[in-house]
Amino acid sequence: MSDIIRLLPDHVANQIAAGEVVQRPASVVKELVENSIDAGATKIDLVIKDAGRTLIQVIDNGKGMSYTDARLCFERHATSKITSASDLFAIQTKGFRGEALASISAIAHVKMQTKQADQELGTKLEIEGSKISGHEPVACSNGTNFEVKNLFYNVPARRNFLKSNQVEFKHIVDEFERIAIPHHQIAFTLVHNDQEVFHLNPAPLRKRIVDLFGKHYNDRLVPITENTEIVEINGFVAKPEAARKTRGEQFFFVNNRFFKDAYFNHAVASAFENILPAKMYPGYFLFLEVNPQQIDVNVHPTKTEIKFEEDKSIYQILRSSVQLGLGKFNIMPTLDFNQESGFDIPYEMRNQTPVAPEIKINKYYNPFENENKVKKQDSFGSPFTSAIKSAGFGSVAQSSSSLEDMFQMNGEYEVDIEQTSLNFDVATVLLSSNFISVGPFLICASNNGLLIIHARRAKERLIYNQLMKNFMLQPLASQQLLFPMEKALSKQDRLLWEDNQLTLKRIGFDWNTNSSEFELTAIPAELTESTVIPCVDKIIECLQMDNLDKGEIAHTVLAQTAFASSISFQLSNESEALKEFVSSLLQTNDHTYTPKGKKIITELTNESIFQLF
Ligand code: ADP
Ligand code: MG
Repeated sequence: MSDIIRLLPDHVANQIAAGEVVQRPASVVKELVENSIDAGATKIDLVIKDAGRTLIQVIDNGKGMSYTDARLCFERHATSKITSASDLFAIQTKGFRGEALASISAIAHVKMQTKQADQELGTKLEIEGSKISGHEPVACSNGTNFEVKNLFYNVPARRNFLKSNQVEFKHIVDEFERIAIPHHQIAFTLVHNDQEVFHLNPAPLRKRIVDLFGKHYNDRLVPITENTEIVEINGFVAKPEAARKTRGEQFFFVNNRFFKDAYFNHAVASAFENILPAKMYPGYFLFLEVNPQQIDVNVHPTKTEIKFEEDKSIYQILRSSVQLGLGKFNIMPTLDFNQESGFDIPYEMRNQTPVAPEIKINKYYNPFENENKVKKQDSFGSPFTSAIKSAGFGSVAQSSSSLEDMFQMNGEYEVDIEQTSLNFDVATVLLSSNFISVGPFLICASNNGLLIIHARRAKERLIYNQLMKNFMLQPLASQQLLFPMEKALSKQDRLLWEDNQLTLKRIGFDWNTNSSEFELTAIPAELTESTVIPCVDKIIECLQMDNLDKGEIAHTVLAQTAFASSISFQLSNESEALKEFVSSLLQTNDHTYTPKGKKIITELTNESIFQLF
């Protein structure tokens, strides 16, 4: 039998390698910008069109390449960064595999112009699907200018696999941040569809973080420093009150390279234990310096996972240094956090273990609650709801499951499910009763004991349903602000906001598109200047979740608006007015729970009342 094994042609091998190296436009951004950094650039400009689908351009002022190297750099395993296998164990540069450019040029139209400072002329090279279509001297500036067009033009499966422009651009900004933070001494710009998104001048780390994430970061950052034989740790954690419900700004770097590590993340989170409410994520920007021989960056082609020889010790050191930083912060809360370095610890305190203060909040505290607490499951189809249904009070909508799922997914709202079932004609009882208002509650006698309505939450449900009804028909009423209201937003959050402008404007928001700071010029009529800010924060949190549909955005905004405007609700003392209020509640859909999943009506049974005596 004849031989059947053949070597794959280069362009096929490159395309296969590209599958690993280039998952999406953001991967190209990462590889090109890292090359610019390795080339010693002090200024890097990034130009993107259509989230990188049509153009990714990186212009640097680095050392450039010679005429021959300009051709060679597109070959597989072509690298100037390692010369022997032993170099692999002490890598100082970002790249070293020599496969990025070969991969990118296999699946895109690439044009490169490059010039070394001591040369008069530079080189222009054009390459498409691994085939060189132009290689000639050219007059150009020092450094390298890469244009990557029509990514995945010859790999339709990959192209179709890309997410929306919004999601792909978010990945690009993520990569950009991961590089711009540790390289704060390099100037960067990022332009997307002709709009400048970032303009970063060389600056100390703290300033770079503020430039990326917004002015409000300045007084949120707590410095962390630790120096041991195994690892040196520097950077910042965000103060506990700045923590978020979504994993936002969490950055680990080792020897200035971004990496992800669930184990070390746990170390930081556990240092925040007892000072962060459940399900909140701390923000951090932490830089680890270790001997390059003690890490292996070669474990993953996209290199965000890294193996540490001494991971157990580093875990402990990381945890205690964050605890120490937070402890110092709590001991001396008035210190100036603008200083770039850490604090001096008084000598006599050096050997003390700082104790993180404990703040225990039971956010589910409810004086009427039963012992059993379970996560919301079928609470929306409670017996109460069916009782109302059978009483013929309007159609009780099937809970809009995707919206409710969102809350469950978020894990944010837990709801108590009653043990007792309300198996009587609730509507009749409610409407024929006399209510008394006791504090925030409306109380009436039921066949079984006492029915208690949380009046503010009932109002929240009423407002929400009204808002949602109006929203379906027309844009909601908006109020112009006399003076624009500044709200500190990171660039990325502002982009998210603007990407959803149609929905947000329909809800009643308007803002200044020209000013550099985010300024609201109109807000929904239901909100006030004091309730709007928490509402905006909530909306941003919601927008940060990937793959959100417009309905969910509207729901979140309206739920938050309803919540905010129900806070000032005053219950009338007049019994007719109370009855009317309860009756309008019963006519709404899903009147047993608020749009945020909090219980509105509960029953205190005779039995449980007896137990109180
Ligand atoms: P690696 O970065 O792993 O070496 P790449 O395929 O990314 O592999 O790049 C190949 C080579 O091309 C690099 O080693 C470097 O010599 C050269 N190179 C790439 N980009 C630049 C740039 N922006 N400026 C100067 N040289 C570059
Ligand atoms: Mg590289």
